[in-house]
Amino acid sequence: MLGTPHRPTALAVLTSGGDAAGMNAAVRAVVRSGLDKGLDVFAVNEGFRGLVEGSIHEVDSSDVGGILHQGGTVLGTARCDEFRERDGRRRAAHHLIERGIDALVVIGGDGSLTGANVFREEWPELLDELVAAGSIDQSLADAHRRLTLVGLVGSIDNDMFGTDMTIGSDTALHRITEAVDAIHSTASSHQRAFVIEVMGRNCGYLALMSAVSAGANWVLIPEHPPAGGDWEEAMCDALHAGREIGRRLNLVIVAEGARDRSGNPITAEQVSNVLADRLNEDVRVTSLGHVQRGGAPSAFDRYLSTVLGYAAVEQVVTAPGGDPQLIGIRGHQITSSSLVDCVNKTHALADLIKSKDYESAMDMRGGSFKESFRMLRTMTRAHPHDPVPGQRRLRLGILHGGGPAPGMNTAVRVAVRSGIESGHTMLGIRNGFEGLVTGDIEEMDWMSVNAWVGRGGAELGTNRFMPGEADFERIADQIAAHKIDGLLMIGGWAGYQAAFDIHSRRDQLPALALPIVCLPASINNDLPGSELSVGADTALNSIVKDVDKIKQSAVASGRCFVVEVMGHDCGYLALMSGLATGAERVYLPEEGIWLSDLTTDVANLVTGFEGGKRLGLVIRSERADEVYTTSFIEALFEREGGDLFDVRGAILGHVQQGGNPSPFDRIQATRLASKSVEELIEQAESDVPVSSFIGLKRGKPRLTRLAEFPDLMESDVHRPREQGWLDLRPIAKVMARPSFPES
Ligand code: ADP
Repeated sequence: MLGTPHRPTALAVLTSGGDAAGMNAAVRAVVRSGLDKGLDVFAVNEGFRGLVEGSIHEVDSSDVGGILHQGGTVLGTARCDEFRERDGRRRAAHHLIERGIDALVVIGGDGSLTGANVFREEWPELLDELVAAGSIDQSLADAHRRLTLVGLVGSIDNDMFGTDMTIGSDTALHRITEAVDAIHSTASSHQRAFVIEVMGRNCGYLALMSAVSAGANWVLIPEHPPAGGDWEEAMCDALHAGREIGRRLNLVIVAEGARDRSGNPITAEQVSNVLADRLNEDVRVTSLGHVQRGGAPSAFDRYLSTVLGYAAVEQVVTAPGGDPQLIGIRGHQITSSSLVDCVNKTHALADLIKSKDYESAMDMRGGSFKESFRMLRTMTRAHPHDPVPGQRRLRLGILHGGGPAPGMNTAVRVAVRSGIESGHTMLGIRNGFEGLVTGDIEEMDWMSVNAWVGRGGAELGTNRFMPGEADFERIADQIAAHKIDGLLMIGGWAGYQAAFDIHSRRDQLPALALPIVCLPASINNDLPGSELSVGADTALNSIVKDVDKIKQSAVASGRCFVVEVMGHDCGYLALMSGLATGAERVYLPEEGIWLSDLTTDVANLVTGFEGGKRLGLVIRSERADEVYTTSFIEALFEREGGDLFDVRGAILGHVQQGGNPSPFDRIQATRLASKSVEELIEQAESDVPVSSFIGLKRGKPRLTRLAEFPDLMESDVHRPREQGWLDLRPIAKVMARPSFPES
């Protein structure tokens, strides 16, 4: 008899398997959410070894203060062979139950989650054995008949089913992309070839996505070995063609599990030898190894781990004793799936690779993985395919609108090459809509966008110019004169509004009846029809890095920082950076700032510092309130803090718009630009063209009609009516309860 599951009163959290950046953020979130639910929370050191050996200690919120920004795991992780044996697991059960713990959150890879599930299945029997051996009383066993298990995937490989992203993989991509960007400059100076080995035994995610984001010229992944017997020849032909057209760097990325069609491993050394022997290239091999695991977690990994940790505890308290669940993410949405199914599917995919059924392996990886592979093939070509004879050659214009957003160049590069590859002529329109009015338009060829993939800023130029009434006729004239069949606008609010204004005048000026596709590129993430806009992730990472430094600068204790971030009318950057840096209070334009809030916030700060808090952090979105400005809040806190703490303000400013795009922004820009060009071509070839804006919904590209733009926006401010990320506010509040002494 298992009895009715009761709500656990005590929960333990552990990290296991390979370490991954973000594990600390997950532990912090589990601990604080658990405490918030009134549970006793225990941390286990060194993964399952700590369970077997009883290295388990109760924690409070301050024990997980100051770890959010640290890579690795403060709890430690270890391989543990004893846990593979029943005897070891019985000891583990004993250590848990004697502390009254019957809920476990495991943060680890598929091995760890498999082991945890074995433990959970055996739990009732292990308890019976402990009772029989006289180690525990029957009543204790009866009170905890079931073990509630929730899994979070900590793995840099992004190799698990049940989640779009695993904890640590975004940070790993950051490390790889930083390394490759650095190599880019040295290699191009010498006309070298670089072969870079990245992690991923059964999963090509890191290799493929780093190839997309670094603009690699060839990639070798486990799921898709090169076709044909002589994989070397295809690679050499492609790289040689690149050299012929003047490419200065040849970059090959190899996943550690790469293989040929017969299943024989392909190593970075082998690739290097082939390039040296067959192409006479000056080749260098770089194996990134543990660099990929290291360093501070990216903004995304901190956010991801925080929301997953929170959701794991929700799962524990709402479905105690149920089937073990794996908590994951799809787009911005938290998902919960059967842990056993996810582990089984992950193993099944590894088996497909082992049995050389590569087609099924790629199918199992899913649409966006395959799509990225296809895109990469196009991007790496030295020349486009020849156009199909007799095909209508469209002329498609690309322009920006709004403030600069990192990733704009990435999107233009992909759009130009996808368009040319489909047999069309791509036109670059300089300086946004102003250039469209004046006719600052020129054809872009294949190599004109070479090396744009990771370049910050906007090579085509962007500004907030909005066409006035007198401009539309001139725009119509330019469109007619340049015979433009469709427009791709990559930009922010001003660009969307200008595109909508053109679209609205199509009945008066027939030349304006061309299809337009808008692609969201704005650090503010203030556009409708998309969970995320290109550029926001880079800005977020830039804020997080700066806030980390600002916090470190507080060597003297008793200081509170008031940091102002960008965002215009949208609080996305403020809330997300608050989550990612452990701010205790975030001021958003969506909520405004009220005098009563400030009074409470001051009181909380005073209580916190009186209770031993050493560092305070609040983040204010630039337009959170007209009256209660950053300097006002700074002065207020300073005055009220008296001798208890001093206050420093920091307005981060334009650094947030600059820098090279993050891997995530490059990947999203690539996906969205490729889909946008497909859509534009389809519409330009249609008799009744539709204009739209593209976006990500639940992580997938989706289109919305441009005509809906005004209805989807707030009427008086520049932000969408619906903003899913606002649902994260309760999580931010739990993470930063005033009673928690430190972030
Ligand atoms: P990862 O979680 O990163 O895949 P491992 O495969 O090394 O890492 O697993 C981590 C730990 O999980 C192992 O050291 C072992 O203690 C435990 N474990 C893995 N597989 C099992 C299993 N089938 N049964 C019991 N414990 C397991």
